[in-house]
Amino acid sequence: MRPRFQDSAVHQLAAELIGHPRELAPLIHASRLIGSDPGLVLHGGGNTSAKALRDNIFGKKENILYVKGSGIDMAAIGPEGFSVLLLDPVRRLREIPNPPDEVIENHLAIQRVIASGPNPSVETLLHAFLPHRFVFHCHADAVLILTLQKRAKALICSVLGEGVAVLPYVHPGLPLARAAVEAYEKNPEIDAIIVLHHGIFVFAEDAGHAYHRMLALVKKAEFFIQEALKKSSRTSRATQTAFPPKPGRETSRVAQIIRGICAGRTQGGAFLRRLVVSRQNPELIEASRFPGARKIFSSGVLTPDHAIRIRNRMVFLSSVPEKDDALKKVLGSKVSAFEKDYARYLLGKKPGAKTDSLPKSVTPVLFLVEGVGLFAVGETLEAAKIAADIGERTVIAKWKAFALGQCRPIPASHVREMELWPLQTKKLKPHHKAPLTGQVAVVTGGGGAIGYGIARSLLAAGAATAIADIDTARLAHSMDLLTREFGFDRVFSVNFDVTDLAAVEKGFETVSVQFGGCDLVVPNAGIAHVARIEDLDPDKLDQVVGVNLKGTFTTIKAAIPIFRRQGTGGNIVVISSKNVFDPGAAFSAYSASKAAAHQMAKIAAMELSELGVRVNMINPDAVFGDENVGSGLWELVGPERMRSRGLSPQGLKDYYRQRSLLKVQVLAEHVGNAVVFFASEKTPTTGASLPVDGGIPAAFPR
Ligand code: ZN
Repeated sequence: MRPRFQDSAVHQLAAELIGHPRELAPLIHASRLIGSDPGLVLHGGGNTSAKALRDNIFGKKENILYVKGSGIDMAAIGPEGFSVLLLDPVRRLREIPNPPDEVIENHLAIQRVIASGPNPSVETLLHAFLPHRFVFHCHADAVLILTLQKRAKALICSVLGEGVAVLPYVHPGLPLARAAVEAYEKNPEIDAIIVLHHGIFVFAEDAGHAYHRMLALVKKAEFFIQEALKKSSRTSRATQTAFPPKPGRETSRVAQIIRGICAGRTQGGAFLRRLVVSRQNPELIEASRFPGARKIFSSGVLTPDHAIRIRNRMVFLSSVPEKDDALKKVLGSKVSAFEKDYARYLLGKKPGAKTDSLPKSVTPVLFLVEGVGLFAVGETLEAAKIAADIGERTVIAKWKAFALGQCRPIPASHVREMELWPLQTKKLKPHHKAPLTGQVAVVTGGGGAIGYGIARSLLAAGAATAIADIDTARLAHSMDLLTREFGFDRVFSVNFDVTDLAAVEKGFETVSVQFGGCDLVVPNAGIAHVARIEDLDPDKLDQVVGVNLKGTFTTIKAAIPIFRRQGTGGNIVVISSKNVFDPGAAFSAYSASKAAAHQMAKIAAMELSELGVRVNMINPDAVFGDENVGSGLWELVGPERMRSRGLSPQGLKDYYRQRSLLKVQVLAEHVGNAVVFFASEKTPTTGASLPVDGGIPAAFPR
């Protein structure tokens, strides 16, 4: 059930919006309802407006237009998400026969009532030209499915009934605004317009009325489709055979290979890694298995607005070869064919198109793999998720359209026009390029002080980061702190025991399903035990060796097949210890197992260089953790050290600080900074040890 327009919510909003015209509160309420319904709009699609009368600073009444800002997501929109313009001069654009885009854009810019507001929606003129107080627009899937059918106009009229005008596709902006207002002037009885291959517009004097009219029309379309699909032999056959797979080995393997193939290169030759988000919803899998799927999915977006997010085509793969090399080969050739084709589509058929107005890359964004799922590639996780959401709904809608009878895609020339339209491409905000953007990191021992500190540094540097730990409570605590600081998107947690190779492999698989693969592995999990050799229990030694040495081995081993599939190098940064160079008495289990792990890392540096993977070690000393996350190691070792030296907890910290050359306390953040340094690949370094210990001469690496 969709939410209803609530007068009480409007009153509440109005109370917060004192000083604004009374039309703003119902506009915001309706916009949020529309924006949070994925059946109506996705990620910044759709737009809404209200017209109002208000006093200017000279006390003169003026007609103004509140229109959604371009690219703003309506789900959580507030007053600042709307552009506010003087209505009358905007309307006068109708008098000019064919003004160039720059003239329109400039005219809109100088009619702003609030100079700092967002750029107005690309459909501003339509909102301005129609006389109604409220105009709402969205790209509802159900309506678009009807527009894909043969004889769409007649079908839509019969399904949606009276009061609806149906227009052929017209380029958004001034041409569509003119067509819409002319349709209304020809027939003032209408309160809705459907534009083929684009979406639905409704208009009314009352916001609640306009919203419910939009829902009623969309519901009619949805009901018609649902009933027609029940009768369609095409879907029922597919439903019987459909088996939604669980995301697992196959999904992670395909994601890793797609990720590797789609990685770009900087001018200096460094990899530009991207993230891959996968989707496996049962309808999507059913659609992928549909006979003729290839034809449906190799063509066309549902509405041209989506092309800047998902491109106008996707790669379709009907079967997944078992061998990685064979899968790489088939996907590689599909991607290069796609790139050639797409460049031709963007350039070839439009002589004189400025190359600098083309999107920089023509690599595919979406891959549909029969029976496995949909994979979306993005330079940022946000871009990949948006593409996955839009892609998922597009595939399902096109499959339904086909099952109903027809799936006639919008002509490519219309999509290209939109895809290259500067007003549209402006919606793609340039993202802040943090040094590890596009990288995926896995940090073991993420529930402890150093692991948490490393994860914080990696997230701050832009990496998607998974923390792993055997201790679920500590893991949940770190996760809670990290999501509070960085949000939920780029942080992930996975619970495994590093001494169990199969569990570690499964953990990496889960991370690959989440982010597409892995570029940076930080074996950090470690435990300690204090006993002189004379008193050391062999079982205790086994335990410490199990986590510190075998755990480093399993983590490195589990990552290798992923590095191999991606083919884009990577980094392993082993958190070693100052004790490797400068051991302490009664600490043999820890120091010896850490020294062995350190040696294993050096050998990994030798063996993995052929994959372009660098392996380096960080040797910290006396990282105590803070009030947020304590160090498990120091909780264990600290009391004994304090006893033997007769120190308080603060005294112990001071003791370690004073013992270093620089007289500083070593923080987890310092270790994190060192990991970020190695992961950013600023120097051609592998097999190196970097002390992060404040300077201990006895531990200088030799
Ligand atoms: Zn639109």
